[in-house]
Amino acid sequence: MTARVYLDWNATTPLRPEARAAMAAAWDLAGNPSSVHAEGRQARRLVEEARAAVAAAVGALPRNVVFTSCGTEANALALAPGLRSGACGPVQRLLVSAVEHASVLAGGRFAPEAVARITVTRSGVLDLDGLRRQLASGPPALVSIMAANNETGALQPVREAGEIVHEAGGLLHVDAIQAFGKISFDINGVGADLATLSAHKIGGPKGVGALVVADRLVGVEPVLRGGGQELGRRAGTENVAGIAGFGAAVKAAMAGRDAEAGRIQSLRDRLERGLRQSEGLTLFSEEVARLPNTTLFTAPGLKAETAVIGFDLEGIAVSSGSACSSGKVQPSHVLQAMGFVDQMAQGAVRLSLGWSTSEADIDYCLKAWRKLASALLRG
Ligand code: PLP
Repeated sequence: MTARVYLDWNATTPLRPEARAAMAAAWDLAGNPSSVHAEGRQARRLVEEARAAVAAAVGALPRNVVFTSCGTEANALALAPGLRSGACGPVQRLLVSAVEHASVLAGGRFAPEAVARITVTRSGVLDLDGLRRQLASGPPALVSIMAANNETGALQPVREAGEIVHEAGGLLHVDAIQAFGKISFDINGVGADLATLSAHKIGGPKGVGALVVADRLVGVEPVLRGGGQELGRRAGTENVAGIAGFGAAVKAAMAGRDAEAGRIQSLRDRLERGLRQSEGLTLFSEEVARLPNTTLFTAPGLKAETAVIGFDLEGIAVSSGSACSSGKVQPSHVLQAMGFVDQMAQGAVRLSLGWSTSEADIDYCLKAWRKLASALLRG
């Protein structure tokens, strides 16, 4: 087999042809979108078209979409003291779920002592009573919860959390990066005050993100100051081609989203039926609502590092559930927060599917797994 099978779509996705075409067209434009001449206006038009597409996809107003250099930057822009909205805020502290992405756990511009974590259940779902308790014990808080977890795919009860947060006078930030384009996400529908998106998880280019703010929110303080772009919320000449690619990817992702989610879920179910044949295999978060494309599993004696290399040698790209920093695989903070001991937290493998995944890919992956399992698993 010469073709590779890519099953790491939650890490990043291939560029959609629509995004590639939009970017290629944008690269040939000379103008700076802030310039008033015709060349500038042409570039501005691409940026604004993309902004309208992103806004429409999440039910926001175009003026409330701030383009950034990535999802990480959008999270850093979102997480700041002083935000307020109507009767809520200004927020003075940050509460984050324990299973957030590292860019949220880092706390943005809050002082470390103003950041606290909210626990999750063994299925990786936010503990709403814990949230209530934390909110009751201090000044107005910004609460940051992801719509879907990047490792387990578990969906979070963002709407319920939003009601609790607002009742307590706080504000809600939703990291919607993994949910966006895969399942429905509407900023007003879930009651979010801020939401972050990233282009490269939906077939757009790497290195473009967006912060979306609710119309009522005030007090977004820029991280980058200077030329006043993005209505003063993010200085720096816009990445016109990247933003155009993001807009094209959004349109393509939204057009076929629900049908594609069904197709992918049936492939994921086929994958999980096959994996379950291995004795003692654990599928994390399988008992709760999950993204249709994500499977995180472990088996007795499995070492994620070895499994990822084994899959790679078989021509399949997968990832370990564990965060990998400086070449060393660490136990997954997500699985640790869910109460799994180190051996399991270090032995999880994530398979994530996308629009080009086929039944043949899944069957090939299962064949490779059976071969690997007989060599790698205990007993
Ligand atoms: N948040 C979540 C849930 C993610 O999965 C990622 C990407 O892995 C990020 C934030 C960071 O996004 P970016 O890679 O665009 O900085």
